[in-house]
Order: sequence, then C-alpha cells, then structure tokens
Amino acid sequence: MPTPAPLLALFKSRPEQALTLGTCLAVFAIVSIVGYLLLRERDSVERSAVRASNNIVQLIENDVLRNAELYDQSLRGLMWGVRHPQLSSLAPDLRRQILFRQAITTPGQGELLWLDAQGQVQGRSSGKVPLLTDFANTAAFQAHRAHPGLGLVLTSPSQRQLDELGWCLNFSRRISSSSGAFMGVTLGALPLAYFDALFQRLDIGKQSSVNLLSTDGQLLARQPVLDTDPQVGGNYLKRANFQRILAEQNGSFTAASVARGGAQRIYTFAKVANLPLIVLVVHSADEVLHSWRHTAWLVGAATGVLCVGILWLSVLLGRELRRRQRAEHSLAELAATDSLTGLPNRRRLDEVLKLEWSRAQRSGKPLAILMVDIDHFKAFNQRHGHAGGDHALREVALALRRCVRRPADLAARYGGEEFQVVLPETDASGARLIAERIRAAVEELPAFGDGSVAITVSIGIAVRMQKTQRDLTTVLGLADEALYRAKANGRNRVEQAQS
Ligand code: GH3
Ligand code: MG
Ligand code: MG
Repeated sequence: MPTPAPLLALFKSRPEQALTLGTCLAVFAIVSIVGYLLLRERDSVERSAVRASNNIVQLIENDVLRNAELYDQSLRGLMWGVRHPQLSSLAPDLRRQILFRQAITTPGQGELLWLDAQGQVQGRSSGKVPLLTDFANTAAFQAHRAHPGLGLVLTSPSQRQLDELGWCLNFSRRISSSSGAFMGVTLGALPLAYFDALFQRLDIGKQSSVNLLSTDGQLLARQPVLDTDPQVGGNYLKRANFQRILAEQNGSFTAASVARGGAQRIYTFAKVANLPLIVLVVHSADEVLHSWRHTAWLVGAATGVLCVGILWLSVLLGRELRRRQRAEHSLAELAATDSLTGLPNRRRLDEVLKLEWSRAQRSGKPLAILMVDIDHFKAFNQRHGHAGGDHALREVALALRRCVRRPADLAARYGGEEFQVVLPETDASGARLIAERIRAAVEELPAFGDGSVAITVSIGIAVRMQKTQRDLTTVLGLADEALYRAKANGRNRVEQAQS
C-alpha cells in the first residue's frame, strides 16, 4: 500500500490514477472492516449460544448427580435394614415401612426394590405387587451376584420390569452378609418421565433440543419431542456426531445433522461424572444466527450501496478531472501559441531558450539561434494592406515549420515580422544549412497580390560553442548583429556572427 507521501506525489502527477487507487483502497477498507465486524459479531452470537447451552448442560448434569446420590443413599438405607437381624421378626407391613423409610415415595419419583439371593422381589417401596417378581435373569442382578465389588451400578433403562413407571433408569447395589456372601440386590428405578418434566421447564427455542443419552447411544429423554426425531429408546451409537461426542466427552462443536437433512446444528454436551450418561443440548445454527443474518443483510446492503456510491462519485470526479486536465492543457497550449501564425509565441520561446541553454551548458554540445526578419515588410503592408501582411506572415510561418523538422528544434514568432529558430545540438555549418533552407523556402513562396513583390527574409545566426563561455543575452545580441549585417549587405541573405 502506498504511503501518504508517494500517494500525494502520485496525486499531483497523475490525479486520475491516484483518485482511482484511493477510491479502490477506500472501498476495500470499508468492505474489510464491515466484513471483519460482521464475522466477529457472528462469532460472538455463536459463543453466547454455546455459553447458554453449557449452563443448561451443567444444570441437568447437577440434577442427575443429585438424583444418583439420593438413590444411592436410599439403596444403602435399604441394605442396612435388610441385614438387620431384628427386622426379620417384625410384621410384614411394619417391616416394609421401616425398610423403605428412606425411599423416594413421591409419585413419579421412582421406586426401591429388595431382591433376595434368588432374584425374587421381597419388598417394594410402593407396596404394590410387581408384574415381574423374578429378577434373576436381569443384567444388574447377575452382575452383582458375579462381582461383589461393583458398588453402585447404573444399568440401561428398562420398561418391562415396572410397567406403571414407564422407562426407568435403574440404580442397584449388592447386599452382602458380614462374611461377604451374596444376600440379594437393592434396586432403585428412576422414571425417565422425570427428565421430560425437567426439560420441559427449559425454554431453548423451537428448533433446539435437550437430550439425555446413555454412553451406549440410547436416547433416554428429549424435549421437545418431534415426530420426525428418533423416539426414546432409539439408538445414536452409529452416528458420526455421537461418536465425536463420545470421544470428546465435554465441549461443543458445529456439524451437519443427519436427522435434520444436513442442517447445521450446534452440539453442546457433557458426560455426567462417572455415570454412563451424556447430557446434550442441540441448537439450530439457523435459529441462533437468524437475527445476525438479518443484521448482516442490512449492513451488507447498506455497505454495498455506500461502496457503489463512492465508486460512482469517483467515476464522476475522474471524468471532471479529465475534462479539467484537457481544458488546462488547451489553455496552456493557447497561452504558449501565437494566435496569428499558430507558431509557439514569445513566452514559449523564452522558456525553451532558457531550458536549451542550460542543457547545452551541461552537455557541452553547441546551440544555434537563428533571427529571421522579413524584408521590407512595412512596404509590403502598405501595398497589400494589413490583411495581406497577416496572410504573408502565416505563409512565412508555414515555411519555417517545414524547414525545422527535428523534435527538439523550435521555430517561434519573436514579435512583429520577426521569428526566432532554436536548434539544439547544431553547429555553425548545420545552422547555416537550415538558415539557407528557410531563406530559399520563403523566396520560393508563391507571389502575393499582383506578383510584383516576392517575400524574402534575412537571417542572422549565432552559435554557442563550448569554448566560448558567453551568456544567452550575448549570443542573442550576436544573432541580432548578424541579422543587421544581412540587412546591410542587401537582404534575402544569411549572415553568421563571429564566434
Ligand atoms: P527591413 O527589411 O529593414 O526589416 O524593413 P521592414 O519594413 O521589414 O522593417 P520595419 O521594422 O521597419 O517594419 C516592420 C513592419 O512589420 C511594421 C509593421 O507594419 C509590420 N508588422 C509588424 N507586425 C505585424 C503584424 O502582425 N501584421 C502585419 N500585417 N504587419 C506587421
Ligand atoms: Mg523587423
Ligand atoms: Mg523587416
């Protein structure tokens, strides 16, 4: 990017290019800044959504852990009662009340069961007769019988065992005698409906969802429930997104959802401590970014209009600059041109003389100056009138133009009927050749009026040579002197100053 100083220099020398460059840079800067701000805003919106999801995940994780603790305490209380020798002698109803005094008895809050060493139900916190009384074949029972040190075990949800509770999460502990012998199992069933009620209280947006899954991919609870989504009990294990959640255990990512036809969704998740459960909050990226997209469209459109406006103004300004440049150029041309003959005028002649003089001084090359004066022009004027005189002046100017051909050469009107020719890098012999050519060209001009008077010119030559250290005025004076000599020697001739 050009620094301000070169840009300023460029603006002075080529204003139009500088304008185009400046405008493009301004438009680029505006688009970059707006783009950067919009992207930062989008990032911030996404991060806020993830933060909100993280809070929900934390809340649910804490709730699940608190429930696990409550169930564990209840199972331990039940174990204590089962192993107490005096309780076995009590009446069954009283014994049940004492055994399950720590049980969670609130409706919908689950149940506690006591299974004996054969897997038969010996007691139940609700007091109802269970549909299934033999738990010997259940995975939890068999695991505790085979492995004494399992502690609290959480097994996959089951609907079959306690039908009236629907799908339940099962917590269980082994009952061992003081000698370590297997005495049975205590079982706690937490209905998954509890989580549905919990999730329903969260307001997370229409296209988002809160999920509880087991680490083996089973969906345990989900809100809101959509017909198009897999229902509770469905398995997600083979889904790439679930595999990523399993691998990362905690965090957040954005990915396409297979269930939602490839729509982008933001997954925020956490594994619940050492339990085989995962809490997952899924947001629709479209929903999260809806308001941002609206803003982005508005800002983008406004920026586009602004940029187009700037470019349009710059095109107009460029056109105006070009027009002004052209006007300035033709004005400069006009100011440097003699209106009668079309030759460069005295002002231009003085500039070129100064320039060529200093160039010749630097280079050491010769510089020839020719003073050209029309002979007896006063008389010509008297005979043909001023209009005829003007015509003759134009014809002489054309003849001069034809004879002076090199790009650096200059033929100018000095004033009245006098002309001056500047010939850079031209020595005396070259200058005499050109002067003779001019004299002859004027002489050969077609006769004016009645043809009795031909136009002729006298020419004085002065050459600045390296060895003569004269100044410009002296050399011009020498050319003038040579001209007077030409006049004195009969006119229509070329005389050269003595160098
Ligand atoms: P000489 O041969 O000695 O140069 O004689 P001359 O008559 O050319 O010299 P002089 O300087 O006495 O006269 C110059 C005349 O040129 C005077 C004027 O009438 C005429 N003249 C000068 N400028 C113009 C012009 O722009 N148009 C016309 N038509 N005549 C001009
Ligand atoms: Mg004169
Ligand atoms: Mg004259």
